[in-house]
Amino acid sequence: MVKIDLHTHSTRSDGLDSPTQLMENAAKAGIEIIALTDHDTVSGWDEGRSSAAKLGLGFVPGIEVTSVSDVTRNEKTYRISVHLLAYLPDPDHQALEVVLDDTVATREARGRAIVEKLAEQIPITWEMVLDHLDKGATIGRPAIADTLVTMGLVADRSAAFDYYLSTDGPFYVSHSAVSTIDAIGLIRQAGGVPVIAHPLKGVGPDTDPEDLPIAHFEEMIQAGLQGVEVYHRDVPETARKWLLDLADKHNLVVTGSSDYHGLEGKPNRLGENTTSQEMLDRIIELGTGTKPSL
Ligand code: AMP
Ligand code: FE
Ligand code: FE
Ligand code: ZN
Repeated sequence: MVKIDLHTHSTRSDGLDSPTQLMENAAKAGIEIIALTDHDTVSGWDEGRSSAAKLGLGFVPGIEVTSVSDVTRNEKTYRISVHLLAYLPDPDHQALEVVLDDTVATREARGRAIVEKLAEQIPITWEMVLDHLDKGATIGRPAIADTLVTMGLVADRSAAFDYYLSTDGPFYVSHSAVSTIDAIGLIRQAGGVPVIAHPLKGVGPDTDPEDLPIAHFEEMIQAGLQGVEVYHRDVPETARKWLLDLADKHNLVVTGSSDYHGLEGKPNRLGENTTSQEMLDRIIELGTGTKPSL
């Protein structure tokens, strides 16, 4: 069986391996085909593709697109951030490029806002955060986490997310980004295959499947969603059967991947979840924006 991992990050966003180091580690882990899916950027593709080729790995270009959705539960509306994996989109598609550039710029403003809040209590500066980022890399909370580690305030990224960077913590600033429905449309226009990343990540083990947001999923599918990342460590068991039934009903692609961010970035290990060759073949058939290197 070919080992296929379709969700990984490099230093072009919040991973800790450069695209080349990522490919080297993937080869060591026995991966045969890998997708590089940095947050909101294609800037790692060229290096990733050529390093993969040197190591004899297949390369599938992707992006993890940040989007936001408003979902209603118990008559209250919440704004949630939805990550969409886009496989094989045209990297030169104008409208998609504009949206990604916008998100990257907004992420920087948001990062600065978080740091400003933190600076009221700890001696952190934006320059310190920039020291933990490659030039032009997509900014996210992990770079701030790395700064807190260097400052000796927390042991690792996870510990930083437990308090300083927690979504319900005092320093949090939410994302603003393209709506999920618009993002799905754009990815399709760019010839890409939109697959929802780690769907239903926050759902607790006791959730009644009747309470899962079926209307939101039906809406995304209507808009052109083509796949669901069912096999991911953050997708709870309660959600998997529900997602598989949904995939069955709408003939969606089902993927599994690691969401690797580097050895120290997250506990996620390359190849801990994988995608079948059959599903990758379907992605390649559906994706018309750019070619994989296999
Ligand atoms: P942001 O993009 O700024 O909202 O930050 C979210 C990113 O932080 C995700 O893409 C993950 O890579 C990372 N992240 C979230 N929670 C944790 C955690 N507990 N430990 C390490 N990294 C995390
Ligand atoms: Fe990430
Ligand atoms: Fe994600
Ligand atoms: Zn990811």
